[in-house]
Amino acid sequence: MTSPADSFADLGLSTSLLNTLAEIGYETPSPIQAQCIPILLDGHDILGMAQTGTGKTAAFALPLMETIDVKLMKPQALILTPTRELAIQVAEALQSYAKNLPGFHVLPIYGGQSYTIQLKQLARGAHVIVGTPGRVMDHLERKTLNLDNLKTLVLDEADEMLRMGFIDDVEWILEHTPEQHQTALFSATMPEQIRRVAQKYLVEPREVKIKAATATVAAIRQVYWQVSGMHKLDALTRILEVEDDFDAAIIFVRTKTATVELADKLNARGYAAAALNGDLNQQMRERVIEQLKSGALDIVIATDVAARGIDVPRISHVVNYDIPYDTEAYVHRIGRTGRAGRNGNAILFVAPREIRMLRTIERATRQPIAPLTLPSRADVTNKRVADFKSKVAEVLNAEGLDFFANIVSQIAEEQNVSAEEVAAALAMMAQEGKPLQIAGEDPPPARPFAPDNRGERRPASFGDRERKPRFEGGDRPRFEDKPRRPAPTGDMVRYRIDVGREHGVQVKDIVGAIANEAGIESRFIGRIGLYEDSSTVELPAGMPAEAANALKRTRVRGVPINLRPDEGRPDGGGERKFDGDRGGFKKKKFGDR
Ligand code: ADP
Ligand code: MG
Repeated sequence: MTSPADSFADLGLSTSLLNTLAEIGYETPSPIQAQCIPILLDGHDILGMAQTGTGKTAAFALPLMETIDVKLMKPQALILTPTRELAIQVAEALQSYAKNLPGFHVLPIYGGQSYTIQLKQLARGAHVIVGTPGRVMDHLERKTLNLDNLKTLVLDEADEMLRMGFIDDVEWILEHTPEQHQTALFSATMPEQIRRVAQKYLVEPREVKIKAATATVAAIRQVYWQVSGMHKLDALTRILEVEDDFDAAIIFVRTKTATVELADKLNARGYAAAALNGDLNQQMRERVIEQLKSGALDIVIATDVAARGIDVPRISHVVNYDIPYDTEAYVHRIGRTGRAGRNGNAILFVAPREIRMLRTIERATRQPIAPLTLPSRADVTNKRVADFKSKVAEVLNAEGLDFFANIVSQIAEEQNVSAEEVAAALAMMAQEGKPLQIAGEDPPPARPFAPDNRGERRPASFGDRERKPRFEGGDRPRFEDKPRRPAPTGDMVRYRIDVGREHGVQVKDIVGAIANEAGIESRFIGRIGLYEDSSTVELPAGMPAEAANALKRTRVRGVPINLRPDEGRPDGGGERKFDGDRGGFKKKKFGDR
């Protein structure tokens, strides 16, 4: 954390926005927000380097909101994101920041969505457009998107756009936007091409860099669980239940609202839990910490600020329920455990899109963080049975069992059953609302196709090292650091598409478009054959209709690809068919731009 401002109010935002932030539970600005917001409010261009999960959206969205004239129903800001999932996420974030801005309208536009709908929405008007480069370019070319009133242009996750082969589209868009606007470019890394784009299109940009400070952490057992297949809350209670040396825990979340919500949910599940956030006055805060010390509470759910300096030796576990913004916060958080010479455990929940932050934390703390296998139902049952047995053993040693033994004999006699059967009935009764055998299912193994999954709802197992084909939107493909050969294992189907060398396409364009439009991770895209006027591409078998439909409408380099199973035409020829939805539009030829 590079001297973060303590409050949003210090950054120059309007009262209306400050109120909104308080309402949605943002307590303090993240480091990137603290640095970027004043600069953007001053009207400067920005070149920001920060990773996923650092709070970039609010960093650019809040200042941008201040510039919006709601009465003018014209696009005043354009945000480019690499994927449709991100476009939707960013649009949702903006909508939530616009809580107190009646009439505000943000529109996500992305590939794979019907043009008819998009055209209607564009015609209706929006103040902010959030879109993927290909589709935005398309609408600019068709003149269905007009940027004459543009005040702000944001390139979000520029390096991802580069990796996905969209950099030409991005530059084209930059070329075709009116001169007078503020530009913000965010990227986790700064490859040469991005730097070049920044130099060419940003005007005297201020550079903001959230660097990962290195730090060493005490001997704390650090593990992480990649959020998938199960709600964080269920995973949390499962983990806490089977952790051997569990005594007390601090659970870190991002918002005040989340501290309260999670505390309520844990209470409902029988945990002695309370929220600790900036809304509590000093006295209430101290009371919560006192209760945690004394054992009246076992779990405290806190925001970073509220947990500053807590020193309670019995805290055996720190759970990063929401990943921290930076490594310093991480180190600070996990420092709440392993105190006074005791063992400490740090558990980190990592959404698929936050994997990079995990790696940064590992690098900064110079310690690997091991993946945690979620306890299975059987594990939980075994643990509950073991606990039950030891409780029974304790009672067996107690005085005054005779009275009860007598009752058992009576029941056995009256019911004509064995003492064992009576004991079984009593054991069943003794479960007290917490059954020894837990119900429900274990998380399913990675589901091959889930095009609409975003972030934590994605039911894939961690890491996917076993290379199961998977359609998703969280991780985005990487071309530089991950060779795409050998081709993925598993059944593949070969398709043919109507773009080839004569359209100037490269393999990465095809991979990028398919990954984006159908949410297929690039490494599950098999061999690609480039022919003169068409290409072949291998995709995992069993593609759901939704993904197939999205791919039918996909364009590469502006050309509709018309994806269909390949009938094996080695010459690569093929007649061009058009999708009905696009039928009315003029076909865009490569070279038009
Ligand atoms: P990035 O774009 O850097 O990956 P996001 O903008 O998507 O990060 O933010 C990640 C999460 O953090 C979101 O759920 C967002 O609501 C939350 N968040 C961002 N800023 C704050 C803040 N100041 N206080 C609390 N939560 C925040
Ligand atoms: Mg983001």
